[in-house]
Amino acid sequence: MLRLVGGPRVPRRLLSRIFQYRVPLLILLLAAIAEVYLHTRKYEVRQPRKELDVPFATSCQVPDLDAPRENAALIMLARNSDLENALRSIVSIEKRFNQWYHYPVVFLNDEPWDEEFIETMRETVSGEARFEVIPQEEWTFPSWMDKDLAKANIAEQGRKGILYAGMETYHHMCRFFSGKFYTLSALSDYKWYWRIEPDVEFYCSITYDPFVEMAKNNKLYGFTISLAEEPATCPTLFRHIADWKESHHIRTTELWKAIIAPSWMPWPLRSLMSLFRHRDKHGDGWSLCHYWSNFEIANLDFFRGHGYQSLYQHLDRAGGFYHERWGDAAVHSLALAMLLDSEKVHHFEDLGYRHDWFYQCPANALDGQLPDSELLGKPSPKVAPEVQGGIGCRCECEGTKTRNYDSYCINKLKQPNTSKKLGVLKWVKNWK
Ligand code: GDP
Ligand code: MN
Repeated sequence: MLRLVGGPRVPRRLLSRIFQYRVPLLILLLAAIAEVYLHTRKYEVRQPRKELDVPFATSCQVPDLDAPRENAALIMLARNSDLENALRSIVSIEKRFNQWYHYPVVFLNDEPWDEEFIETMRETVSGEARFEVIPQEEWTFPSWMDKDLAKANIAEQGRKGILYAGMETYHHMCRFFSGKFYTLSALSDYKWYWRIEPDVEFYCSITYDPFVEMAKNNKLYGFTISLAEEPATCPTLFRHIADWKESHHIRTTELWKAIIAPSWMPWPLRSLMSLFRHRDKHGDGWSLCHYWSNFEIANLDFFRGHGYQSLYQHLDRAGGFYHERWGDAAVHSLALAMLLDSEKVHHFEDLGYRHDWFYQCPANALDGQLPDSELLGKPSPKVAPEVQGGIGCRCECEGTKTRNYDSYCINKLKQPNTSKKLGVLKWVKNWK
């Protein structure tokens, strides 16, 4: 017996066997490496020739008070008890945007609204304020579901400490925002929505009309923050969606590739990886990247359409809104990645936005703050300094960082204008 230092005893005969087959083993290893390389290449995101998603504005604009508006509403789901935080959000959006554009605000609740909430918001919203109650059948378990089992699973998720998953109402809320929200009769008049939550803050002035820009630029969905989803909330969600994609022969978009973490296992071992969570049946994974849905500016018709709604029905039947704690942000994001080309999605990187403890806040545009504009008024002393390359309008950021979370997790789709490849190309061009 041979004994490697500190290691187990390796039979000498086995070593000599391995040595005897070294050539075929080496060939097998190289073939596996080549196979993995080719496989991961399939998920490489094609860099667009030109930036597909530029900000709608890169400095302050003079709001056009008379321009035609889109058929749109700001929408907030809240409880009566959320009044204080809801008011803070509405004051912020009015100050930073709606004082010029006067879009209606629709307040949704699963219970009747208190007079105090209604009065306070009527006084604060500069457009029409509407107060709607969600029909009870849209805010409960699906009729076919075993409610006792669902409740037991919710309690179990709570015991495991999965974020918010022990609260029945949270599951109803996530299911509602994933599907029924889009087909509510109270919203049937609108084509666009801007989702606002209690306790959000807008740090910059939004001096253009984002709905008009979304329409003009053929966008369907806009976000501010993208992050990794909490893995314990949705162990089987990605598998359901990936299986649906395959069974409906839906082509792979660049957006889908951008959220896939391809497996590093060679075939045929790769398919064994499908036994793990957040993986498709071939063993490739989801990076957990998703758009944070407390801010959304999006086209309602896309979500009302057959593609999205039939996927929602399928997910609802699968039961994961209750037996797990599928969030509407993850559902929206995976559906968008599957159904849309990347140019349909817009990152509002010029908006300063905070919810809970995450924020993004851009630097202010150099010479782009319109200090003498009567409509915008005198800039506050709290406005952050102007910076070369800044795109913000009168942003009042708390720190000097643009964002306080890891990274904008689908930035694979961004133009690599600082990449080495382009640097070399530029050098060759200059040299010639
Ligand atoms: P988080 O953003 O994931 O932490 O979840 P929130 O607690 O902020 O809820 C998301 C949205 O749903 C917010 O607009 C809340 O006001 C709203 N919401 C959550 N639960 C309920 C509920 O039971 N009733 C009502 N009416 N709104 C709710
Ligand atoms: Mn929230």
